[in-house]
Amino acid sequence: MNTMVTSQIDTNTMLRLQSQGIRMKSEGNTANGRKGGAGPSDHKAINLAGQTIMVPTYNHESQDSPFWATEPNELGVSILYDKDDKLGSITFPHQPNFYAKSTSDGVPLWKIATLHSKDVLATTVLQNCIRYNDKETSCQFCAIGESLKADKTIAYKKPFQLAEVAKAAVELDGVSQFVMTTGTPNTKDRGASLLLESVIAVKEAVDIPIQVQCEPPNDFSWFQKLKDAGADSIGMHIEGATQRTRDEIMPGKATVTLDYYDRAFEAAVEVFGKGQVSTYILAGLGDTQDEIIDKSRSLIDLGVYPFVVPFVPIVGTPLENLASPNAAFMEPIMAEVGGLLYEAGMTSETVKAGCAKCGACSTLKSFEKQRELLKTA
Ligand code: SF4
Repeated sequence: MNTMVTSQIDTNTMLRLQSQGIRMKSEGNTANGRKGGAGPSDHKAINLAGQTIMVPTYNHESQDSPFWATEPNELGVSILYDKDDKLGSITFPHQPNFYAKSTSDGVPLWKIATLHSKDVLATTVLQNCIRYNDKETSCQFCAIGESLKADKTIAYKKPFQLAEVAKAAVELDGVSQFVMTTGTPNTKDRGASLLLESVIAVKEAVDIPIQVQCEPPNDFSWFQKLKDAGADSIGMHIEGATQRTRDEIMPGKATVTLDYYDRAFEAAVEVFGKGQVSTYILAGLGDTQDEIIDKSRSLIDLGVYPFVVPFVPIVGTPLENLASPNAAFMEPIMAEVGGLLYEAGMTSETVKAGCAKCGACSTLKSFEKQRELLKTA
């Protein structure tokens, strides 16, 4: 059967693509992909049927994927196949113009921040973490040190460097938001002060929505300081839906317990508002479908957007050989959580900045839309 995708890719195919990845016949016009690092590492952004999604292309699993793509033609268009079935044409976002520039102190801008999806600027302010490289404390899925080792970034991005990259990315490439994450420093604020000075510098240079991401700080007054500085939303990422999974997979980070996260979420929602606080849940680390759905429901009740993504193994990490959850595992979770988000009025579209706004690493946005269509049909 030859199924051409013309206007909209179905959610099951999206789930399968994000879990199984794509075998690339050629690197082609593919600057917008990354190996290692925080966020969608070992992923590549693809434009498919009017949507941009992040799909694994560099990890072990994608090398055995039934999905494969031809070498891009002169217009940068590839054809995507599922085994022998032709699914349709895909393109890759072009290398952004700001990648050719450098900071005023000579650092290439692509080492300061990268383009995610098609119009999101993203950076890891501190490319180190107190928990990394220590078997007792490290998160087993994390690759924060890999891009640093590969000289693809610098260890600490100074506020003026972030301001310069933001200005250039807005002016030269029309980026629509800035996502700032950080490794966790050995300080009680867990990165909040680093983010604060970064936000102040960027907002002075250019008016762009910003999401900051860090572990919950010791003192919740940081939320108001971040908001006053210009942060539009905040992400604090639990990753595991249960303390059991967190203790096993991320023993250091799990010492900041789910109970503490809930208290931080409540305080952050007070400041940033319902739906402007989010968290990542990586499905496939050991939590059951029900555990992920139950945790998501309680987060939504708190006003927190649970950004559920399929776990994707990254080469070079302890979990590099753990398989991604398949579409059959993901589908009921996404349908339920997408529906709950729609019913709560906390859809991706209502988020001002961040991964939930971008949505390229998850299919949740499509499931929110699916629920909307069902309700309005
Ligand atoms: S969802 Fe977040 S991590 Fe994924 S591409 Fe978008 S901004 Fe980057």
